[in-house]
Amino acid sequence: MIIILMGPPGAGKGTQGDLLVKKWPTFCKVSTGDLLRDQIKKETEVGLKVKDVIAGGNLVDDDLLFEVLKNFLKEQGDKKILLDGFPRTVNQAKLLDTLNNQYKVAKVVNLSIDTRVLVDRLSGRRICSQCGAIFHVSNFIMNQEQETCPACLSGKLVQRPDDFPDRIKNRLEVYENQTRPVIEYYKQRGICSEVDAMGEKDQVFKRLIETL
Ligand SMILES: [Zn+2]
Repeated sequence: MIIILMGPPGAGKGTQGDLLVKKWPTFCKVSTGDLLRDQIKKETEVGLKVKDVIAGGNLVDDDLLFEVLKNFLKEQGDKKILLDGFPRTVNQAKLLDTLNNQYKVAKVVNLSIDTRVLVDRLSGRRICSQCGAIFHVSNFIMNQEQETCPACLSGKLVQRPDDFPDRIKNRLEVYENQTRPVIEYYKQRGICSEVDAMGEKDQVFKRLIETL
């Protein structure tokens, strides 16, 4: 069984997915970004293919991404799967439908959120250059760029290039054009629910649980 968490960048898919797995340990959370990194690190056959594609300056295409995902699913046996970051396009959603019944998409949850809130969340995000912890500038009064990480007390907090304003705009556009139709694809099937992703993460999580 597969459950899919959807929503624009900054809606909190990663955070909500982590909370869900903590509450329901029978779920295994999969982010395709993590999968790709993992396969490259382990230097598997498919991982080396991915490495070649990225080294050539190209994007990993749907078929290769799906191959990575399938390999991972094979290793999971009967575990329930929580997908984060896949499918991002209708084509990917159709690929997912080719899996056998064990991996039927049972439920899709779309975390919906106001664009202005998203831009604020993403542009205010700072990440620790050493431990990877994520913070928001609204939690700091001092000069943010000079801030030392409160988690590891040694790394500096930096802004990822992906979170620069022009990149955010671009990411949201890609989302609207390519991923929004995926939500419609699942709505037509009657398995997609909307969850209001505004507010504190615990409130959002409560709403999320209610829909599952
Ligand atoms: Zn740190």
